Amino acid sequence: MDFELNDELKMFHRAVRDFCEKELKPHAHIAHETGELNWDAIKKMPSLGLTGLQVSEAFGGVEMDTLGAAIAVEEIGRVCGSTALTISAHNGLGCGPIMAWGTDAQKEKWLPMLTSGDTLGALALTEPQAGSDLLNGAQTKAVRDGDEWVINGTKAWITNVAWSPVLTVLLRTDAESGSRGFSMMLVETDREGFTIHPPEKKMGLNASKSHMLTFDNVRVPVSNILGDEGNGFYQTMQTLDNGRISIGALSVGLAQGAYEEMVKYAMDRTAFGEPIAKKQLIQEKIANAAMEIEAARTLIYKAAWMKDKGKKFTKIASIAKLKASLVAEKVCYDAVQVHGSAGYSRDYAVERMYRDQRLMQIGEGTNEIQYLVIARNVLKEFESGTFTML
Ligand SMILES: Cc1cc2nc3c(=O)[nH]c(=O)nc-3n(C[C@H](O)[C@H](O)[C@H](O)COP(=O)(O)OP(=O)(O)OC[C@H]3O[C@@H](n4cnc5c(N)ncnc54)[C@H](O)[C@@H]3O)c2cc1C
Repeated sequence: MDFELNDELKMFHRAVRDFCEKELKPHAHIAHETGELNWDAIKKMPSLGLTGLQVSEAFGGVEMDTLGAAIAVEEIGRVCGSTALTISAHNGLGCGPIMAWGTDAQKEKWLPMLTSGDTLGALALTEPQAGSDLLNGAQTKAVRDGDEWVINGTKAWITNVAWSPVLTVLLRTDAESGSRGFSMMLVETDREGFTIHPPEKKMGLNASKSHMLTFDNVRVPVSNILGDEGNGFYQTMQTLDNGRISIGALSVGLAQGAYEEMVKYAMDRTAFGEPIAKKQLIQEKIANAAMEIEAARTLIYKAAWMKDKGKKFTKIASIAKLKASLVAEKVCYDAVQVHGSAGYSRDYAVERMYRDQRLMQIGEGTNEIQYLVIARNVLKEFESGTFTML
């Protein structure tokens, strides 16, 4: 593994940092207070490839590798969690499955629209009764009727759907076939019988929107199936592996942003005759943040690198996401603490960051599920004698 980014990635990193500082950071507080994204900035994102990070150039993307995509999400997360979740979900959950399993016709129809900066992509897996346990709990179903599928059921917490012309939906297409009984389908959001309910009232990430959806005899043509019938559960697992790297990168970005605010405040604020940055208990928080962010970022880069090298990356993606989300929690907590009462005020960025980070331990598989995935893979490796360092 190379510990230095190549020149192309360094330039991309710099360009994304500059864009975020100029276009997103000044609006982040407004987004938190008003719940509105800065659409002017999102419309400028295609020029940097941020709306098509891993989409082919032919469809309006920039075909970044996973490391580049992670760096972009981290940088956006450093300044604005809401925009970062929006862009992470758009790229990973919205564009990702269409790019991976779409037919040429599906890609040509949807990806240029999704990468344009005018619309966003979305993926519907979760249901009111099933998040972690989709296999046993997901009930939204599609029944074949001639040349169409008829969809009925409810999905919950679907991010970006309000801005999506189309969304990918995980559907039960055969109740008897267990994990082979699911398929993914593209559903245009203007189909009759499809309803987007009001946005969830959330603890943070205020400008990112997630909605409950109902499908009441929604008909789509059979050509809307994404990939092979019966493959939806496996497509879901692969999409989540990828998404964990992205949510992990977003966690590192939130931690980095909070860390920078913490250090600046500690250097400015005086108590007992000197800046609080001189106090050893404050320095412990600063040093701990520096150490933990380095560790989390290195894990995210390693997970991205393993994916890009075609290696198995399920375990490392879970390890990286778990670690990064815990680091975001600890660093944002300490950043609020170092700010004292100012950290409890909505006038300071760390209040927003502390709220925003809380999703990182829940989305893209809760942390309990990450522990299960990691342990399952470790035990499998030990049983089969395939445990390796990379
Ligand atoms: C802001 C936000 C955005 C989201 N965006 C999307 C989206 O775009 N698309 C989408 O499909 N979903 C989305 N989700 C849903 C999210 O993926 C789920 O909330 C998540 O997977 C957890 O599912 P759940 O809420 O049903 O919790 P549950 O599965 O009900 O879990 C409840 C608790 O039980 C624990 N638990 C469950 N099983 C086990 C076990 N075997 N062992 C130990 N503990 C266990 C969990 O870790 C958790 O602590 C979003 C959620 C939020 C909050």
